[in-house]
Amino acid sequence: MAAIEVEEITKLWGATRAVDGISFAVEEGSFVVLLGPSGCGKSTTLRILAGLEEPSSGRVRIDGRDMTRAAPAERRLSMVFQSYALFPHLDVRENILFGLKVRKVDRGERERRLARVAELVGLSDLLDRKPAQLSGGQRQRVALARAIISEHPICLMDEPLSNLDAKLRQEMRIELRALQRRLAMTVVYVTHDQAEAMSMADRIILMRAGRIEQEGGPDELYERPATLFAASFVGTPPMNLLTLEDGPEGAVIAGTPAVVGNGPGRGRVLGIRPEHVRILAEGGIPAELLATDYLGADTVISARIGSQHLGIRVAGRFRAASGTPIRIGWSPEHLHLFDARSGRRLSGSVGLPGTDPAPARIAATTSKGGRP
Ligand code: ADP
Ligand code: MG
Repeated sequence: MAAIEVEEITKLWGATRAVDGISFAVEEGSFVVLLGPSGCGKSTTLRILAGLEEPSSGRVRIDGRDMTRAAPAERRLSMVFQSYALFPHLDVRENILFGLKVRKVDRGERERRLARVAELVGLSDLLDRKPAQLSGGQRQRVALARAIISEHPICLMDEPLSNLDAKLRQEMRIELRALQRRLAMTVVYVTHDQAEAMSMADRIILMRAGRIEQEGGPDELYERPATLFAASFVGTPPMNLLTLEDGPEGAVIAGTPAVVGNGPGRGRVLGIRPEHVRILAEGGIPAELLATDYLGADTVISARIGSQHLGIRVAGRFRAASGTPIRIGWSPEHLHLFDARSGRRLSGSVGLPGTDPAPARIAATTSKGGRP
């Protein structure tokens, strides 16, 4: 059974549709991420699940029971916010135990849970400190401990790592995920950070302007983005999106003679991930290198084809001066194709519709040019 079912939730703030008729289910024990840009309705959705906000319409079911109008306490959920909301005058122990005291859990039980949870999140030696004497990561763990100690099976988290520096954030991602698995918690986690979503989620619900743009596993979103928005939101650098047009022999990259297939090009956008673009010795499509960004394990090359920008990711170090002419290609199985107007993915995503699956010219030059 799904732990949480959301049915056609809408939330209006005056004329603003913060959430616009969304539905989804969260399976018990799973880690589900609500992902999307700032203002797309993630926090509002989470607050509706928590009971901190009432939806304008729609229903929320928790463990099969209608909880749409239930008070937060009745829902048996815990929440972790971006601002950890620790009490500055209370030490770590008191901060963690606060909720249990309010709920009048007896002393023996409180101490048993505290010992276990403190051990779990690595705070056993810091129980007497005040929040001001803790690092950002340690404060974050106190907030987590407070959620875990409640032993509520469902935990809602709103950008809980965004105040931490990059290195700590990455460590906490791994810790949090391990903890969620060990405790078999059901987690709904809000973030605008696609890398965080990709690395943590069992399922990602990608939101845009109050609606669900795409829902699926991280690999699904990465490998088969349903829309241009999903294609450009997930992955860094983002997927290259090249506008096509009709040329004399078939689809060409708009503004250039570069043929990419013998089907129609107008109204279509070709997508190719930076790591799937190859630099060829000969053949392929001519492009101009603009800049290189060496990152250690790989280099991200910025290039242009006609007036359209293209990112290329190659392993190791790639050195070339700005303005160097290069030739590029790709294998047809890595192509994505979108309808320019609706933004939706076109089926038969490899190759162009109405043609062989392989855009003939590029497939040929790629195999001749060889794989680097
Ligand atoms: P996110 O968490 O994805 O950044 P929010 O859910 O916080 O987005 O906000 C979604 C939309 O609802 C935004 O346009 C925001 O300005 C608006 N909004 C959120 N809370 C309120 C509120 N209490 N009153 C009025 N508008 C709000
Ligand atoms: Mg938010």
